Amino acid sequence: MRSSRIRFALLAVVAIMVGLFVLLPTSHQLRRQQLLLGTVVEIVAFGPDLDILEEAVSAAFSEIARIEHLMSPHIAESDVARLSAATEPFAVAPETAEVLALGLRVAKASRGGFDMTLGRLKQLWAIGSSAPHIPTPAEISVALTGVGPDALTLNGQIVTKKNSHLAVDLGAIAKGYAIDRAALLLRQRGIKHASVNAGGDIVLLGGKSSKERWLIGIQDPLEPDKTVAALKLADRAVVTSGDYERFFERNGVRYHHIFDPASGFPGRRSRSVTIVADSAALADALATAAFVLGPEAGLALLSDFPATEGLIIDPAGEFHLTPGMSTLLSWH
Ligand code: AMP
Ligand code: MG
Repeated sequence: MRSSRIRFALLAVVAIMVGLFVLLPTSHQLRRQQLLLGTVVEIVAFGPDLDILEEAVSAAFSEIARIEHLMSPHIAESDVARLSAATEPFAVAPETAEVLALGLRVAKASRGGFDMTLGRLKQLWAIGSSAPHIPTPAEISVALTGVGPDALTLNGQIVTKKNSHLAVDLGAIAKGYAIDRAALLLRQRGIKHASVNAGGDIVLLGGKSSKERWLIGIQDPLEPDKTVAALKLADRAVVTSGDYERFFERNGVRYHHIFDPASGFPGRRSRSVTIVADSAALADALATAAFVLGPEAGLALLSDFPATEGLIIDPAGEFHLTPGMSTLLSWH
């Protein structure tokens, strides 16, 4: 009698477990990497159906490649290359117009600290190439002729350059936009938990699971393979601009890739800036802008953009952060 009751109880437990296994969707994790946007882009996505994950992740990579083809200055038929060569008002794709509109807002709010017309200056320094060059004052003054927050005007999709020789460069914002688009595609396919990471510029869909937020390390600008702090985030974007990302050194001086448009030289007011926002395009633009402006004006800039938080590490290694940022951070 007793043993048949035990047998019945055991059977019931097994039946419940089998039932749970069938009814509750098991969560799969898919992790894929591709070389895009001049970096390794990694997408991690979670969901109950592996086929849906595969299809969505591959669509997200294609979308990033499509945006790169519109906005890379190195692709001859891109909007950016053709706009740089244009001598007349030029019609760009709606996506490029969207990026330019956001960039112009940040350019104006940062009083030109953020500047999408530094294409000639970037070519002149050739940072990241095999032959970087420290320009003369005369070369800098030619490269900076006509640049500034009013150098481009946008009317719908029509872009007019104030000077036809201006070269447009979306290097400080396009990567963020591309990963926003990738995240949008994943969301449209019903994916609720995912991260899209383009060399440290990250968009997060949901948390890592419905119970856990994502943990994102902030690199130490002095020792980039170490982290100084970690952010706990869900459903947000986080982007860092740092002087350690692309640079060359000469006579013990570091020349990096984020220029102060006022001098034509690499900005010296910050070592790294991390921005948290609802979109990676905005976080990307604000990280570059705040880097150039430095701690005081950089944090003031963030107050013009609701729901943005930031951490600025200055040249002395001091931390400057918005009050909201401290609630997201844990220090190492
Ligand atoms: P990020 O890594 O997002 O800070 O962007 C740096 C890239 O943006 C550089 O490689 C340049 O292509 C471009 N850039 C450099 N200085 C500026 C600036 N002051 N405003 C806007 N874009 C810039
Ligand atoms: Mg940027």
